[in-house]
Amino acid sequence: GKGRPWDVTKVQTTCPFCGTGCNFDLNVKDGKVIGVTSNPNAPVNGKALCVKGRFGMDMIYSQNRLTTPLIRKEGVLVPAEWDEALDLVAKKFREIKDNYGANALAALSSAHCTNEENYLMQKFMRAVIGTNNIDHCARVCHAPTVAGLAVSFGSGASTNSFNEIPDAKVMFVIGANPTEAHPVVGTKMKQALAKGAKLIVADPRKIELAEGSDLWLRLRPGTDVALINGIMNIILANGWEDRSFIEKRTEGFEKFRENLENYPPEIVSQLTGVPVEQLIEAARIYATAERAMIFYTLGITEHTTGTDNVMSLANLAMLTGNVGKTYSGVNPLRGQNNVQGSCDMGALPGDYPGYQKVVNPEVQKKFEEAWGVALSPNVGLMLPDMFPAAINKDLHAMYIMGEDPVVTDADANHVRRGLESLDFLVVQDIFMSETAKMADVVLPGASFAEKTGTFTNAERRIQMVNQAIQPISNAKTDGEILCELANRMGYPFSYNSSAEIMREVARLTPLYGGVTHERLGTQGLQWPVPTLEHPGSKVLHQETFSRGKGIFMAISYQEANELPDEQYPFLLSTGRKLSHYNVFTQNSEALDSYSPEELAEINPLDAERLGVEDGERVKVTSRRGELETKIQITDRVPSGIVFMTFHYMETPTNVLTNGASDKVSKTYEYKTCGVNLTKIG
Ligand code: SF4
Repeated sequence: GKGRPWDVTKVQTTCPFCGTGCNFDLNVKDGKVIGVTSNPNAPVNGKALCVKGRFGMDMIYSQNRLTTPLIRKEGVLVPAEWDEALDLVAKKFREIKDNYGANALAALSSAHCTNEENYLMQKFMRAVIGTNNIDHCARVCHAPTVAGLAVSFGSGASTNSFNEIPDAKVMFVIGANPTEAHPVVGTKMKQALAKGAKLIVADPRKIELAEGSDLWLRLRPGTDVALINGIMNIILANGWEDRSFIEKRTEGFEKFRENLENYPPEIVSQLTGVPVEQLIEAARIYATAERAMIFYTLGITEHTTGTDNVMSLANLAMLTGNVGKTYSGVNPLRGQNNVQGSCDMGALPGDYPGYQKVVNPEVQKKFEEAWGVALSPNVGLMLPDMFPAAINKDLHAMYIMGEDPVVTDADANHVRRGLESLDFLVVQDIFMSETAKMADVVLPGASFAEKTGTFTNAERRIQMVNQAIQPISNAKTDGEILCELANRMGYPFSYNSSAEIMREVARLTPLYGGVTHERLGTQGLQWPVPTLEHPGSKVLHQETFSRGKGIFMAISYQEANELPDEQYPFLLSTGRKLSHYNVFTQNSEALDSYSPEELAEINPLDAERLGVEDGERVKVTSRRGELETKIQITDRVPSGIVFMTFHYMETPTNVLTNGASDKVSKTYEYKTCGVNLTKIG
């Protein structure tokens, strides 16, 4: 039952699903979360919430929650006491370090955990173990954003703020599906449309926003660089560029301009499949607007050219002076609730907290003094390199916190082989994930409702996560588990609270220098927050870019790594659905009931050719694996393209996807690969 209102405590906190960073109140009665109510003071979303935030909280009490540590004995995971499990992990980690060196261990941190926990995880690997082998799922989504925007602008984060969107004049949405993946952002976009904003959508799939757009560019998957270069070629040909911005604020223009000569509209039209008139119209709408905002997500980043794609968008914004002011900018919609924060906290193999480089001797010295140990000057393994390293016996142990790479990483069978090759695998999670099923030790962590700390959303807003209930059953918060392990390994982590951890973060991280839990209060702060007096930063790069001048990069179009051919004639692309978030929302009965199974989308022409009916099951094969799935026949996808989500354990789409990755950031090419479809029976 709902309980009487006077028995209910309301705890304002931050949503654990997507990077929009909505706040709401958890309603708590008798130590149990009984519901969610809007909190009109929520800084990003006000009273708005999407279906996930509103109805997904039954996940906290899912049957699938891990409630006690498990140790593999004679091949089977059996319940154990905390002391036994933690002692075993510490002993094994120490043995492997002694026998093979610190670099024989690697960890994956978690974009679902708090900043404070991510800080502890990277400190654990760096200071306690002695390696930079630490990464997390940003590698499989927005690593190209971090890398690309850092090159172009000097800061790998979104330039503007969500509350500008309702008053935007022009929005260019490319490779993003906000109404499903970032629904409250999608709602803000619809508010802008209602006030007369213009919208350009670039997407191979007819997403909801495409239907309400002024212009929909149905580009061929993976041709983004060609498209953007073509649009910029047209902007220059028409004199729509912002000369004074280019002169005062940027460098590298001449070489960049020369490269654009290779992208006249006719050629770009052939490469992308977008008619010349539409290219011209897109250039005109975007470049002649007083201000225009660019939004993108994984349709830009999850390609072998992901970093190139991101830098191309940065070029476009600089060419037209659309950065460094409100209602403009380059706005990556970060996926997970705290993927921004995990990057900020240095859960990256080359970066300490705040993007301070491990290869910079001064930075190394600073952290060595702060932490009182010698630190490795070498960049560690990126996530996709960990699995081959395990197969080659360079890597012997992994500690995976709150990630499920067996389901989420491309070429899943290869990932599984890597994990099977390890001597010792520890998985810390709130659910019995597919990866946890392979572990030697499983440690039960706590959900967001059971802990205090902070998440940082896609607009760099650091917000409080406030504990509403005690960790369920025998679970512990991830931060507490890390402290207990560090203590057992002879490097005590003695923090009394997560507020104290944040004080250490602030001391060592200029971007977060003025952040305290007290200051965050109910509204949060957007980084950079260099001092205690600083009010935070809504818009980046206003007077100068973080790197001084913005730099134009001359970028050439390159084909996707794997395109359809005779054997695998369809192009598989992947994405999200509204009611789910990755795989773990299957643990919410409420959310799973909205879309309980995979429905691979195929075009009516292809369905006719294959002789299959709507709702029929088909076999999908790629060079790497195969599965069976139900299909949905729809003109949302063009002929020749199959669209699948990655939300269902029983339809593990990533056995099909390509493990080829971006040359800079090693993000997998989830958005294109060749597959074949066959009728079953
Ligand atoms: Fe949560 Fe994202 Fe939905 Fe907001 S839009 S309620 S942050 S899932």
